[in-house]
Amino acid sequence: MKIKTRFAPSPTGDLHIGSIRTALYSWLFAKSHHGKFILRIEDTDIERSQESSIDSILIGLKWLGLNWDEGPYFQTKRLQRYKEVIDIMVKKGDAYKCFCSPKKLEEDRKKQIRNGLKARYSRHCRNLNLENVFNQGYVIRFKNPISGTVTFNDQIRGEIIFDNSELDDLIIQRSNGMPTYNFCVVIDDLDMKITHVIRGEDHINNTPRQINILKSLGAKIPIYAHLSMILDEMGNKISKRKNAQNIIEYRKNGFLPEALLNYIVRLGWSYGNKEIFTVLEMQKLFNLKSISKSSSIINLKKLLWLNKYYINYLPLNQITNNLKDYMNKEKINISNGPNLEFLVESLRSRFYTIKEMTESFRCFYEEFKICNHQKIEKYLVLSNCYILEESYKRIKKLSSWSHSIISEMISCLSTEMKVKKTKINMILRVAVTNDTNSPSISLVIYLIGQKGVLSRINKTLNLIKNLQSKIY
Ligand code: GLU
Ligand code: ZN
Repeated sequence: MKIKTRFAPSPTGDLHIGSIRTALYSWLFAKSHHGKFILRIEDTDIERSQESSIDSILIGLKWLGLNWDEGPYFQTKRLQRYKEVIDIMVKKGDAYKCFCSPKKLEEDRKKQIRNGLKARYSRHCRNLNLENVFNQGYVIRFKNPISGTVTFNDQIRGEIIFDNSELDDLIIQRSNGMPTYNFCVVIDDLDMKITHVIRGEDHINNTPRQINILKSLGAKIPIYAHLSMILDEMGNKISKRKNAQNIIEYRKNGFLPEALLNYIVRLGWSYGNKEIFTVLEMQKLFNLKSISKSSSIINLKKLLWLNKYYINYLPLNQITNNLKDYMNKEKINISNGPNLEFLVESLRSRFYTIKEMTESFRCFYEEFKICNHQKIEKYLVLSNCYILEESYKRIKKLSSWSHSIISEMISCLSTEMKVKKTKINMILRVAVTNDTNSPSISLVIYLIGQKGVLSRINKTLNLIKNLQSKIY
C-alpha cells in the first residue's frame, strides 16, 4: 500500500506549535514509508478564513522544510465536486433535504430537554422524502445509521467505539448551499486517497461521523491517529485564538528550523532516551506506535538548549548564511568589519539564538553612541580613567595586530599597574562594547580593529569626564 498522509489546516489563524506538530508527524510518517504528503487548505468557513493565514501557513511550512508532494488543494475550489456527491447521495437516499425552520428546531430542542432527553435533531424530515416545500430553504442531512456501532482502531489510543444512537443526522450542506466541514474532509480524504489521517484529538468525535459517510459511499476507511494536546507551561491548552505563538515568531526570535523540528518531534513522541534527532534520523525512526497518549508540555528552556546545540553543530557556512539574513534585516552592514564566518566560528558556542548573535555582533560593524546606562554606570567613574588612558596608549603603540598580542598586552598592563586582569577586562569591555557582556575582550578588540577601539575608548573617556563634571 502506498502511504498517503495529509495536513489539512483551516486558515483561520496562524500556524502554532500544535499545528506544526500535526504537520510534522504526518510528513514524517509519509517520509518514513516512502509515501506522499499532501497539503490541503480547509477554507470552506468563508467568514473565518483569511488570506493572511494561508500565507502564514505556506511560509511556516516552507521555512521548516515540510515540503508537500501534492497541493495545496483548496476546498473552496472543489465545491462542484462536493455538490456532485451530495446530489448522488440524495438520489440514493443516503442524504435528505430537511426543511425544518430554526424555530421548529428550537421548539423540538426545548421539548426534548423538558422530557429529559438529549437535545438533537428529531429526524423529522428523514422519511418524508420532500423534494420542495414552497418558498422554504433547506439543509441537506446525512442519514446516519440509527442503530449499531462505529469502531475504529486509533493508532495511538487503541479501539474506540461509538454508538450510532449517539450520532445525529449531520448537516452536510448548509441552507446557503455550502457543504460542511465534516463532509468536505470525507470527500477529500477519499478523492486524495489518504491512507492515514493524523490529526488532533479534538477531531475524535468527528471520526465516527466521517466513517459513516465513507461507508455509505462504499469507500475504504483510512487509518486514524489522534494526537493528544499540547499544554503551555501553565498547563493551559494552547490554541490559535489564545496563547499560541505563530511559528514565524520563532524565526524572528532567532530559532533554527532544525532545532524547532527536533523540539517539536519530541512533544509527544520518543525513541528511547534519544533527544537529538536530525531530520534524516526522524524520517528513519518515526513511528506512530511510540506516540504518547498523554499531553505534552511546552518547555522553552529545552528549545533554547536545542537551538544552542544546532548553532554549534550545523556547518559553519549554514549558520553564517542564516545570520546574514538577520544582519540584513537589522540593516547591519557586514562589509565594514571582520569576516562574519570567522566571527561565527570564534564565538558561536556562546549563543542560544541567532537573534542574540545578531545583537552581539552589531558592535563589530557599527559605530554607536557610547552612552551611560544602568548596566554599566558603576564602571563610568573617574578612578577608572587612568586604566583606559594607559590602555589607549598601549593599543596605539602596537605595531602588529593579533588576538594573542592584545591578550598579552592586557596581562602586562595588569602586572605593571597592579590591577586585576578581570577588572581591566571589564573596563575595556564597557568602553568598547558599551555593555558588560561580551566574548573574550582581547578577541573583541582584535576583531573591531585598532582604529575603532581607540575611537571608542576616547569616546568613553569623554563620557566619564562629562558625567563627573555634572556631579561636581
Ligand atoms: N481543518 C481541521 C483543523 O484545522 C483539520 C481537519 C482534519 O485534519 O481532518 O483543525
Ligand atoms: Zn427537518
